[in-house]
Amino acid sequence: MKWFLILLVTVFPAIIIAQVATPYEKHIKVMRSVDAYQEAVNQNPEDELVDIEQYVPGIKLDIRYTTANNFTGEQIYTQPKAFVRRPVAEALNNVQESLSKQNLGLLVYDAYRPYAATVKFYEVYHDTTFVASPFSGSRHNRGAAVDVSLINLTTGKELEMPTGYDSFSDTAAPDFSNLLERIKVNRALLIRVMNDHGFTVYPSEWWHFDYQHWEKFELMDLSFEQLAKSK
Ligand SMILES: [Zn+2]
Repeated sequence: MKWFLILLVTVFPAIIIAQVATPYEKHIKVMRSVDAYQEAVNQNPEDELVDIEQYVPGIKLDIRYTTANNFTGEQIYTQPKAFVRRPVAEALNNVQESLSKQNLGLLVYDAYRPYAATVKFYEVYHDTTFVASPFSGSRHNRGAAVDVSLINLTTGKELEMPTGYDSFSDTAAPDFSNLLERIKVNRALLIRVMNDHGFTVYPSEWWHFDYQHWEKFELMDLSFEQLAKSK
């Protein structure tokens, strides 16, 4: 009986931990507890992951990872939701307001991404030029990055851009120059308006933008359902 108790106390917690941590997390910390997240938000309201649709009026979403229409060929998210930290949402709201003067708006392909999805992407596609390394985590896992494009507010259609979303090609680089002039103008408009509000484009993807001070937000692995419930 005594041995059984010792076994229960020592081995069982190790099994529980082994179920959640992945082999990639030797040098990073990933938040998986709803309680820890809520505590962080209580300490600092800027940590809250807010629903972009509720925060930015008129913003459009096309969350590809809710369908099989993405590079993994599988549905990754259960809900077509886009969450970002509160200051990122405020900045996106300002971007949207600025664009609306030209009858344009943002189209969001992805925002906060649970860490488990980053692991899945890496296991499907090992090239870290286009897919974040799970050893360091993605800025999407911190709720501080967005994948976006531009739409015409009247037609609802996306403006012509150099490639489709998640095209893992040289053409996706934001400085790729062998393009029609009107496409370069659209891309430059997106990059400029995002820059003006604290975002920096990723060197190999015209659609990916990191928000300033992204490093102060922790890597997280809470699902969209857990976030919705934690309200
Ligand atoms: Zn991205």
